[in-house]
Amino acid sequence: MKIKDILDNNRTISCEFFPPRAEEGIPDVFSAVERLKAYRPDFVSVTYGAGGSTRAFTERITSEMKQQSDLEVMAHLTCVGQTKEEIHSVLERLDQTGVENIIALRGDPPRGESDFVPVKGGFQHATELIEHIHNNFQMGVAAACYPEGHTESPNLNSDLDYVKQKVDKGADFLITQLFFDNSDFFGFLDRAKKAGIDVPIIPGLLPILSTPQIRRFASMCGASIPPDLDRQLDKCADDDRSARAIGIEHATKQVEELWANGVPGIHFYVLNRSYSVSKILDNLNLPGHNGRD
Ligand SMILES: Cc1cc2nc3c(=O)[nH]c(=O)nc-3n(C[C@H](O)[C@H](O)[C@H](O)COP(=O)(O)OP(=O)(O)OC[C@H]3O[C@@H](n4cnc5c(N)ncnc54)[C@H](O)[C@@H]3O)c2cc1C
Repeated sequence: MKIKDILDNNRTISCEFFPPRAEEGIPDVFSAVERLKAYRPDFVSVTYGAGGSTRAFTERITSEMKQQSDLEVMAHLTCVGQTKEEIHSVLERLDQTGVENIIALRGDPPRGESDFVPVKGGFQHATELIEHIHNNFQMGVAAACYPEGHTESPNLNSDLDYVKQKVDKGADFLITQLFFDNSDFFGFLDRAKKAGIDVPIIPGLLPILSTPQIRRFASMCGASIPPDLDRQLDKCADDDRSARAIGIEHATKQVEELWANGVPGIHFYVLNRSYSVSKILDNLNLPGHNGRD
């Protein structure tokens, strides 16, 4: 089923996983998914890496989940390092195995490079990939957006213009980059509405797992950590268990407020660690997603 059709009638909970580096890691991904199944995610997604084998695993995991479970799946796909023909082949294979949803992304420049340079004959921007999928496949398409702006954008207005283009080219809904201050999300929603963006915008949340890790992620993706939260994290720079507890509490409060304000869904960056997401959903007791209904 297309996620866009699920969103027509439901507020969704979704969970994002990443593929392992080696074949032996595949069962761990399925185990993490299995542990969250009790919370009835409306869809799960699998990220697309920078290299060959993990990309094959993304295809394999999404296809297997689609064929062997009752979960709706969304495959991530980027423009990095592949020609349009190669990307078309990936889409054909996913389509043939029944995958109906793609989140179309440009991807980040490879490690050590500061600018994104497409391969000869590749797509330059997510907009081009979205248009390609829209013109050649029946799949549902999602795209990324950035409450605090994308790291390469000169300003929030130009960033929003490109988000609007993604929707105009066929993105059915948007998922945000992680953020820790809901006012950044609400501000983005207002700007998006004024810009005429009328598709569902699902906030993406990353439960903090450790202080060094979240600081690294936040600086990579341009998400700011509010001073209060940062001070709390300072106190457990070497204590992942305490950092994780702070992350659960913070994300629970974020979801509570977002949900109360009518968001169309919540997308969790699970990082294949199901514990925090299960605790957050236990805390929230959302109908249908509390692990007991
Ligand atoms: C929900 C979500 C899932 C993600 N999943 C993955 C994943 O699986 N794998 C992965 O590698 N990365 C993933 N990312 C990270 C993403 O690939 C990076 O943030 C990347 O730097 C930008 O991708 P994009 O699709 O937003 O690119 P784009 O929309 O192409 O934007 C990139 C930059 O170019 C600008 N821009 C856009 N269109 C144009 C245009 N037509 N002309 C000029 N400038 C333009 C934008 O403002 C922005 O600054 C994900 C991000 C999110 C939010």
